[in-house]
Amino acid sequence: MTDLDGVGVSVPEVAVIGSGPNGLAAALVLAGEGLPVRVYEGADQYGGGLRTAELTLPGFRHDVCAAVHALGSGSPLFSVLGLDQFGLEWVHPELLLAHPFDDGTAAIMTRSVDETAADLGPDAGAYRRLVGPLVRDWPRLSVDILAPLQVPRHPIALGLFGMKALWPARTLANLTFSTPRAKALFAGLAAHSMIPLRRPATAAFGLVLAAGAHAAGFPVARGGSQALADALAAKLRNLGGAVETSHPIASLAELDGAAAVFADVTPRQLLSLGGATLPLGYRRSLESYRYGPGVFKLDWALSEPVPWTAEACRRAVAVHLGGGMDEIALSEEESNQGRHPERPYVIVCQQSLCDATRAPEGKHTLWAYCHVPNGSEEDMTERIEDQIERFAPGFRDCVLARHGFSAMAMERHNPNYVGGDINGGVQDLRQLYFRPVMAAVPYATPVPGLYLCSSSTPPGGGVHGMCGYHAARAALRRELRR
Ligand SMILES: Cc1cc2nc3c(=O)[nH]c(=O)nc-3n(C[C@H](O)[C@H](O)[C@H](O)COP(=O)(O)OP(=O)(O)OC[C@H]3O[C@@H](n4cnc5c(N)ncnc54)[C@H](O)[C@@H]3O)c2cc1C
Repeated sequence: MTDLDGVGVSVPEVAVIGSGPNGLAAALVLAGEGLPVRVYEGADQYGGGLRTAELTLPGFRHDVCAAVHALGSGSPLFSVLGLDQFGLEWVHPELLLAHPFDDGTAAIMTRSVDETAADLGPDAGAYRRLVGPLVRDWPRLSVDILAPLQVPRHPIALGLFGMKALWPARTLANLTFSTPRAKALFAGLAAHSMIPLRRPATAAFGLVLAAGAHAAGFPVARGGSQALADALAAKLRNLGGAVETSHPIASLAELDGAAAVFADVTPRQLLSLGGATLPLGYRRSLESYRYGPGVFKLDWALSEPVPWTAEACRRAVAVHLGGGMDEIALSEEESNQGRHPERPYVIVCQQSLCDATRAPEGKHTLWAYCHVPNGSEEDMTERIEDQIERFAPGFRDCVLARHGFSAMAMERHNPNYVGGDINGGVQDLRQLYFRPVMAAVPYATPVPGLYLCSSSTPPGGGVHGMCGYHAARAALRRELRR
């Protein structure tokens, strides 16, 4: 309970469990409506997937989880919060993405659709036709895509997107492109879905990432992703809200008396928090919620930049390692079928190339992960480094120190990454919108005043805060409007 304005009026606080981007987003929307809000974070640092830490050596600042913020910088919520006034600075790299091949060349993505297309030679026109209209429509499209299933605000733009997005990524790539380079580039983007590329709607992930990248860039946050969490928390405090760290919530009963509770947790944790208070039918639905593959994550402190063979890789913030489309598709197939890929598809980020604050002068950081079966404890260091050496011979000679997280170590770092699943649950066609359950308002639970606001609600994984935003809006519509 909080005293407001010193006039002795006591108003129950809204409680938010968890300070990931979605927890902070929900808190900000509610505080913006004048509600007293307190965020309870179990870890000793707030931010969830936005934390930055010296994992290897002093002076080397590593993004523990999220690194590249196409969704964050273009988020319909974050982009209107004035976060630059709270210290957030997006740093845009010269090249967004490079995708190297065994012949020493690389496909590239820049902010410009035309430049990216031109690099694809015979597939230039196909790339422009596939991605160009989505980039043009992105400001309208992103409002509908980063939202729960609802009557679209921009039905024509969304319909055109849907016609392409519902394809399996492999099929769309084969129908659209004639060259292995363009197919590989698209497969690498779509494989962020962590779903086999032969499944329906995996094309959606490639299209959203491509359109988001061209429209908003692939920026990193100066100083580390923690800077985004710091800015969100500072803005929240500015609106009168509070964030308490090292305060795990073990049971909803601890928050009795709160005006409402928003849980930035996944269904498995909600079951453990809510236990018997949740109606049986809802509990059963949460129990059948599916989690996807996990990640094995590596960070390195480097004596010099990675000696990539392809010159473009030396300038790109993100690098996709996996060669051609078939190899990438196989890696995703294997991690989904409970096997550890021999040649994993690896997503690499080189933040220190464009943000000098990440490492001591002249030194560099490197960040990478690959997909592994859910719950894996396997060490993929050797296999990831083999993939880097394949495209950057001599890489291991630059390594000063390394730090790895198995999928289960990821869950120990953040309980929302169940079995190492970084998306808060599988994002296939069914679970993308009907998450965590099939309901008109997926954020609301059957318990009055209890809302789920994590990436286990639409629109799912990634740093955009839109799950938190929509959960807060739903609650304001239903019961919290003052
Ligand atoms: C290796 C890796 C790389 C990634 N890369 C990117 C990227 O480049 N770009 C991108 O957009 N996304 C990326 N992601 C995904 C992104 O980090 C997540 O989708 C996002 O953080 C989800 O936000 P959230 O608020 O739903 O949950 P989280 O960020 O997971 O936050 C949940 C918070 O709740 C806290 N919590 C849980 N239970 C309790 C409890 N009982 N009591 C109190 N606190 C609790 C946790 O400690 C945590 O702080 C990456 C993730 C990983 C792991």
